[in-house]
Amino acid sequence: MGVIARHRERLPVTAATPELTLGEGGTPLVPAPRLSEQLGCELHLKCEGLNPTGSFKDRGMAVAVAKAVEEGSSGVVCASTGNTAASAAAYAARAGLPALVLHPTGAVATAKLAQARAVGARVLAVRGSFDDALAGCRELADSGSHTLVNSLNPYRLQGQKTAAFEIVDDLARPPDVVAMPFGGGGNLCAYALGFGELEDDALLVGCESSERATTLASAIRIAAPVHRDEVDGLVDSGRVRVETVDDAEIVDAWRELATLEGVFCEPSSAAGLAAVKKLDLEPGSVVVCVLTGHGLKDTDAVGLLTETPVEVDANLDSILAEVA
Ligand SMILES: *Cc1c(COP(=O)(O)O)cnc(C)c1O
Repeated sequence: MGVIARHRERLPVTAATPELTLGEGGTPLVPAPRLSEQLGCELHLKCEGLNPTGSFKDRGMAVAVAKAVEEGSSGVVCASTGNTAASAAAYAARAGLPALVLHPTGAVATAKLAQARAVGARVLAVRGSFDDALAGCRELADSGSHTLVNSLNPYRLQGQKTAAFEIVDDLARPPDVVAMPFGGGGNLCAYALGFGELEDDALLVGCESSERATTLASAIRIAAPVHRDEVDGLVDSGRVRVETVDDAEIVDAWRELATLEGVFCEPSSAAGLAAVKKLDLEPGSVVVCVLTGHGLKDTDAVGLLTETPVEVDANLDSILAEVA
């Protein structure tokens, strides 16, 4: 069952909205015992990389593309650092709509573009940044030919808010803190929406890179977040706190998630943990880190962050010379 079927009563869908799904949502909430001990809290990992195209974007895309179909759209367009493209392309293919993807040239992980290309999206590499690509998409969408499925599309946030419901269900209590990366800020706003509907006041922590325009965490390489004003408003009302971390802190968190807990996410997804490590937590707090995308999305990053395997001969001496 996908997010539309599972959360229908909390979504702006009608009898005319197709129940478009690739099986998104219902992702596991995995306890993190070693990190919990280290941090003096009860840490859980919401593994959004297990969505159909490997990121949380699928929750929002199921709803946004279903509404586009309902509204008679003739195609969808998005700007993307990679995961939006992979998701939009898959849901558009599923719905029988053409998808057009604009990405900043040279700045997107190969696997993410492979996903978009494999399902038949038209992919254009824009000379410029993510922000430039988004400006181009907005112009195209305003001209009326395509539906924009970036997080400016309000149905994206509606779909993404469903993760908040699942977290509260799985914990059987509201968490104290929920931390996630802050790229464009759409997901942070979506969680605020979801927890707000539950009248739950968990503190939401958004983690942005101090190197926004250049961070190695390519999914949050966004210089001008489109939801900045909404996030500022949530900060002013005390719902959200924004932490800033550098790449070294993101890489440390990424490595700890992988080596201490066996959970392999893409580098940006570790930003939430990097932020949690900076908080002054009440002992025993229930904390959730949202791991936004799967590690296999960005294997180039693994090449940079780990040692290259050593070559050996297939005999005991040669092997023991390395591992003894
Ligand atoms: C899109 C994305 C983000 C950033 O989400 P925003 O809603 O733009 O803040 C973070 N991590 C991953 C893996 C993503 O795909």
